[in-house]
Amino acid sequence: MEKNEKNTSMKLRFLGTAAATSMPLVFCNCEICKQARINKGKDFRKRTSAIINNEMLIDLSPDLCSMANLYDIDLGKIKCLLQTHSHSDHFDGGHFITRWSEYATKNLTHLDIFCSNGTANDINHRVKEEEPTFDLFDKGWQKDMNFQLHILKHNDSIKYNNYEIRAINSLHDDRIEALVYIVSSNNKKILYGTDLLEISSESWDILRKYKLDLVILDQTYGEGFNNGGHLDAGKVVSIINKMKKENIINENTLVYATHISHEGNNTHEKMEKEAIQNGYHIAYDGLEIQL
Ligand SMILES: [Zn+2]
Ligand SMILES: [Zn+2]
Ligand SMILES: [Zn+2]
Repeated sequence: MEKNEKNTSMKLRFLGTAAATSMPLVFCNCEICKQARINKGKDFRKRTSAIINNEMLIDLSPDLCSMANLYDIDLGKIKCLLQTHSHSDHFDGGHFITRWSEYATKNLTHLDIFCSNGTANDINHRVKEEEPTFDLFDKGWQKDMNFQLHILKHNDSIKYNNYEIRAINSLHDDRIEALVYIVSSNNKKILYGTDLLEISSESWDILRKYKLDLVILDQTYGEGFNNGGHLDAGKVVSIINKMKKENIINENTLVYATHISHEGNNTHEKMEKEAIQNGYHIAYDGLEIQL
């Protein structure tokens, strides 16, 4: 951590908060996308990603470079990549391959990568599209690109420097064993819950062991617009209510929705008004939260 961050136990910045390709959607002219083009600001959303304490990146988004430039983040200092899953809005093989010595990247910081086995296999295919001889599991490539791979499965908990990372099955895509994570450090606990289909009863048993300070949930869809694979506004509210009832969160816990699409959602301002009435907030690109 940087010296000036000593008084902060944990800091999370939303780098991107959009579902699928971005907000507005490339070719879309629905009312919400039209409004986004007029309003700009909080209604422009890049693909979902976040960073903790400027050193732990959650998802290697295709928009990573523009995010880093906008928010003045030195990606050369990233020590850890927590990858939820390998869908193309969360992982960019083209960015990753630039760690290879062929690209003449200098002074690479060692990178610890955490993901499921299914996601690692899929990432491997995606990076192979950039360089066919690449192999994520090969020690030679790991040495050249200065990274180490740590495979996690549902309910695994590992210590990493000052952090504890707990993996939870997101049920978002079984083929690639998609995960969400609870990250704890200095007595502060964050649930990074996107992309998320639902919290299974087994996962609720895990969550009951935590008192969360920050909860981030998938709100891809507005209520009644669920096309599958994700939570919607209605499901977000019922999860929040259940978390309160089960004492997983309290009145001091911050709750934010992210991974916002144009399907049944609205402008940031209108969504935020509605969310506040239900005890949470809508994230936007660049928003920084200090715990
Ligand atoms: Zn996604
Ligand atoms: Zn649209
Ligand atoms: Zn996904």
